[in-house]
Amino acid sequence: MAAAKQKKKQQDAQPWQLANPVTLTPDIADKSQQQAVLITVRQGDGLPIASGQLGHAIASRATHLMLDYSQTACAIRYQIDGQWEAMTPLAREFADPMLIALKQICQLNPADRRSAQSGRCEAKLNKDKYRLTLQSQGTASGERVLIRLEAESIPFSKLSELGMRDTMIEHFREALNSENSTVMIGAPRGMGLSTTWHIALNTADRLIRDFQSLEPEDKKEPEIINVSPNFYGGSGPEPAELIRKMILKEPDVFVFPGIPDEESLLAALNQAENNEKQVIARVPAASAIECCVKFCAQYPKAAKHFASTVKAVLNQRIVRRLCDDCKQSFQPSPALLKKLGIPPGRVGALYQQFVMPPIEQQVDANGKPAPIEPCQTCQARGFLGRVGIFELLRPGPQFRAALLKTQDVAQLTKIAQAEGFRGLQAEAILAVARGLTSIEEIRRVFTATK
Ligand SMILES: [Zn+2]
Repeated sequence: MAAAKQKKKQQDAQPWQLANPVTLTPDIADKSQQQAVLITVRQGDGLPIASGQLGHAIASRATHLMLDYSQTACAIRYQIDGQWEAMTPLAREFADPMLIALKQICQLNPADRRSAQSGRCEAKLNKDKYRLTLQSQGTASGERVLIRLEAESIPFSKLSELGMRDTMIEHFREALNSENSTVMIGAPRGMGLSTTWHIALNTADRLIRDFQSLEPEDKKEPEIINVSPNFYGGSGPEPAELIRKMILKEPDVFVFPGIPDEESLLAALNQAENNEKQVIARVPAASAIECCVKFCAQYPKAAKHFASTVKAVLNQRIVRRLCDDCKQSFQPSPALLKKLGIPPGRVGALYQQFVMPPIEQQVDANGKPAPIEPCQTCQARGFLGRVGIFELLRPGPQFRAALLKTQDVAQLTKIAQAEGFRGLQAEAILAVARGLTSIEEIRRVFTATK
């Protein structure tokens, strides 16, 4: 009887009541001021709800929460592996105090439910720290709140964990550890560029070479061990003046998380070409070839130096990784293999996402109902985590020469392919053949980022 009651209670419990709660700390350096904010927050009822809901979100691997307040309830959505999913809505009696607590911790005005407000705080679950950003704005039907959770530590530490294949890692590492060279790292926006950038720099040998980076003072990069930052703008020097100072220090590598202007870039590329130095730059672009074309068009004075030093250009997409515990193998038809450009006999099976059949089809051999247990590993999503699809352009002499003559992406692609380049599409098919992701998922991501 007691057990049944307990079970009933469990069923009625909200996610925030069952989750391991996070610890929230205001983003204030002064400890006593921090305490004062927390004392105010604890006077309300919202803190356990906020801590529990965020704990549930993190346990669900959510990176964003969207709260939509209407008259009756608060609709909750989580973004997991880049996809929005609807969660159990929260009654206003819980959702309102939750928001008051969150706004207080982020030092916003809880009484104001109309104006656009934005603030942040720190969330901690076990040993993992997250930076929480909250944006709220009144809407016609109530209020919308977007919460972003950014893990302080990057969940991957190696290129192989991102999904890069071994031969490519070897080639990329060789380029990263070379002199007289330029290496570019790119992706479209929202495609995991900052993670790859961070890991790429960590892959480069920073122990025997001196890495100096050029960063705007008002937008400092997260710290990377053995990469020394130099700041321009604000109270600091202009980029061109800064690079002259940096050159005097004779570093081995000039790191550009962004390109401030043509003059500083030209100075660094000159060092790469004539002084056995290296330039590593981050440039948002849709593909490796487009990255080169855009770069030469935007910085015409630097184009020649770039074309003669460019050693490797990396580009990427991120796709959802199929859940290993429930992915379904299938025999691809000869027609499908042909369409994908996979030679017959090369792959035994391809994989697709497990999709739960409708309940009336969940029957045993005798037609008796036999409900299928949803996969615990991925919570029946069919996907778990994400994986990168990489292309690595290593320009040969033909490509370098062509780059200074044409901006025709199709023509440059042909030349690169003749020199051994395999583009994103071909790499994506390899990822499908390796069972990492599905054809549908590739289609979805590539259509969205065309
Ligand atoms: Zn699964």
